[in-house]
Amino acid sequence: MNYRQLAKALCDHRGIAEVGEYGEVVESGRAYPLLRLTVPGKRWLVITAGFHGEEPAGPLTLARHLPAIAAWARERQVGLSIFPCINPSGFEARTRYNASGEKPNNDFLRYETSPGTWKGELRFGEPFTRHALFHEGPKETRALRPVLDALPAPAAALDIHQDNWMVGRHTYAYVFGPRRAYLPLMRAAEAHARVAASCAVHDDVWTDGHGFVHYNDGSITDYYMRRGVPYTAALETTTATPLEACHRVNLVWIRGFIELAAGAQAPTVRARSSSGSGTS
Ligand SMILES: [Zn+2]
Repeated sequence: MNYRQLAKALCDHRGIAEVGEYGEVVESGRAYPLLRLTVPGKRWLVITAGFHGEEPAGPLTLARHLPAIAAWARERQVGLSIFPCINPSGFEARTRYNASGEKPNNDFLRYETSPGTWKGELRFGEPFTRHALFHEGPKETRALRPVLDALPAPAAALDIHQDNWMVGRHTYAYVFGPRRAYLPLMRAAEAHARVAASCAVHDDVWTDGHGFVHYNDGSITDYYMRRGVPYTAALETTTATPLEACHRVNLVWIRGFIELAAGAQAPTVRARSSSGSGTS
């Protein structure tokens, strides 16, 4: 499926969700509309997908299963703010970055670890003095950041990815917030893909025994954690996992996050940047 077909599939859900555009990017002389889907509700879940173009399962799950997703959300009065394909030209070519090769594209925060030294990622336990919203990067990320930052902090945020390096049919997740809340989701996902427990996923970054990673990597997940969102995760399935199984895993987590959002207290403190010290 190319981006035009994806956009059509998403727009065909008008009536189930409000379909709008939050911007447009031009790559290789072609204009790509940046789509956003909204389902109204009382407490909000933000779902993002398609930062990395070689990870198509998230956008495809959203396009194919939006009616069921919207129905689950409406049942629980959870509003959905969905950004289904953040990097359209990458999706089109199945390349990680956009057609201009701008990277990295899931880059939202910087941490000051000593006066004047700012880093995009913290090693586990690394102290820092403050964090701030990053304002540069690829055009797609620059288009998305102010839209997200203008929204009230949601009750939950789920970012859907895939892992193009790990061999085999696996799933794992970068998470912040209480891990016990995510354990049932990982158990349910295990019916469709093996949980990548206690294994390296990135340099010296490892999953724990349940397939969870705690990593302050400056990503959108980290950004939402710093904004006080109680449930925030980046879900991974390997690209070696059959697409149908990826859909099942993605739907387990989407439904789970709708339920978590329904029960969550939305954060009352806006914590986009901080002058306080902390650790990762
Ligand atoms: Zn990714």
